[in-house]
Amino acid sequence: MKIVVAEKVSSAGLELLKAEQWDVVQPAGKDELYAALADADALIVRSAVKVTAELLSRAPALRVVGRAGVGVDNVDLEAATRQGVLVMNTPGGNAVSVAEHTLALMLALARAIPQANQSIKEGRWEKKQFMGRELRQKTLGIIGLGRIGVEVSKRARALDMMVLAYDPYVTPVVAGEAGAELVGRERLLQESDYISLHVSLTPETAGMIDAAAIAKMKPGVRIINCSRGELIEEAALAEAIRAGTVAGAALDVFAKEPPPPGHPLATLPQVLATPHIAGSTEEAQEIVGSRIAEQIREYLKSGMIINAVNVPAPSPEEYRNLKPYLQLGERLGAFIAQIAQGRLRAVHIGYSGKLAQMNTNLLRNSALQGILNRVLDEKANMVNAAAIAADRGIAVEESRGPRTGFADSILVSMNTDAGGASAEGMVLHGQFPRLLAVDGIHIEAPLAGNLVFFKNQDVPGVIGRIGTLLGQHKVNIANFSLGRAEAAPAGGGPAEALAVVHYDGPRVSDSLLQELSQSEAVRFVRAVDIG
Ligand code: NAD
Repeated sequence: MKIVVAEKVSSAGLELLKAEQWDVVQPAGKDELYAALADADALIVRSAVKVTAELLSRAPALRVVGRAGVGVDNVDLEAATRQGVLVMNTPGGNAVSVAEHTLALMLALARAIPQANQSIKEGRWEKKQFMGRELRQKTLGIIGLGRIGVEVSKRARALDMMVLAYDPYVTPVVAGEAGAELVGRERLLQESDYISLHVSLTPETAGMIDAAAIAKMKPGVRIINCSRGELIEEAALAEAIRAGTVAGAALDVFAKEPPPPGHPLATLPQVLATPHIAGSTEEAQEIVGSRIAEQIREYLKSGMIINAVNVPAPSPEEYRNLKPYLQLGERLGAFIAQIAQGRLRAVHIGYSGKLAQMNTNLLRNSALQGILNRVLDEKANMVNAAAIAADRGIAVEESRGPRTGFADSILVSMNTDAGGASAEGMVLHGQFPRLLAVDGIHIEAPLAGNLVFFKNQDVPGVIGRIGTLLGQHKVNIANFSLGRAEAAPAGGGPAEALAVVHYDGPRVSDSLLQELSQSEAVRFVRAVDIG
């Protein structure tokens, strides 16, 4: 494997990759970077290198881009997805750093530390002017109790503060463990002495601290924002500070960074500001460097997807449960793509039993990957399969239901302009993909290696003839499975039957397939390569 590390990441992370005996390259400058990318499997960046469509086009073997950090504004996610390149980041790696900065800002607000420091620097000794207040027994309101909010809460509790939290997406148990009382938005605004923002930026949260919200706050409240500048309507906050209803604010982030000259919040004396540095610590850099290296190692070694930003991925625990079914989905897709005729129009994927309760995005993509790689020139993988299908106008539908038989199963159907095909399968002993039915006819067969698939009339002599012909051509049969429709056709005559022959050795020749199809009772023969 070749890993290109385009920006400085922690040495612990690099060591982890080198320990795999992988080629870890740290190019200096754009030309070296482009040259190194020609046969790279993975690329690690921070925020300076722009991973554009052009850069990606120079990396035809690339499988993963790792962003050591959170924001992925420097990565063209759409281009990466189309190229089948997984993009991952390391959310939460700097949660403690941001939380500590938040506490530092809160303490600095309470004790006017920057102003006191400035006064000393200017040769004054103004003890009376800097009368402070304790944080003890004051109420901190945390809006957004995610990774950072939780760390802030725990630390505020250590300062003997009371913590209220507003977050509609967390449970009281999570809040309780962080030492916070989960409350509604109104109560938090009304009762907090300090309000600290830790929500992500969404259409719902943008501008959430506006004049109306400020009007509900306790007079003399102090506001801290180490989250995103866009959460606050800056003009409304500046106005409230001038009016004295908000006693002060500490801001690490602004709607536009850096704030334009003369920006009121950057100049008001009651506002303490830092240049978006809450997450920037040596420790956070170490953590994100090691994490991105670990995530890339897992993906390249076992396919496990952690913190992907261009594929909706399950948790690591769910992934372990899903893994054998990903192979099943891909093989079912590959199987039906090789037996179906006509132009692909739509794909339907049905999940039963425990699979129906899981995150099925990857299952869907694996089934599509199996189909598309047999149908298109373009190489589909777990990352880009859904995007390729959408591009080609192939409708993809999914459905979920309870277990119908004795196993959790996946049913993949293709609809084509000549009819289509469907196959249902399960995983045996936690690892072996098996066919359960084809086109609604029950048949049990291993879903592996080289197969010959038959559709025939259920009349005597067909199986014997297939066996004899394969034997004459020195094809060793590993497994011979049969199935037939439960009812005879409406118009009378023999029932429709299926056979799946799993054999050793390379793919059978076209002339043998031709011979196998000669019998009048055999309606359809295909060599199927499952891989
Ligand atoms: P997170 O996803 O773990 O937490 C966000 C929380 O917000 C979640 O618990 C979510 O349920 C909650 N939330 C979403 N919508 C909400 C709403 N309408 N009302 C209330 N709560 C809502 O994210 P995180 O890692 O804790 O990061 C939080 C913020 O901090 C992000 O905006 C991130 O960009 C920012 N951040 C800033 C810095 C910095 O240097 N200043 C560094 C890292 C992260």
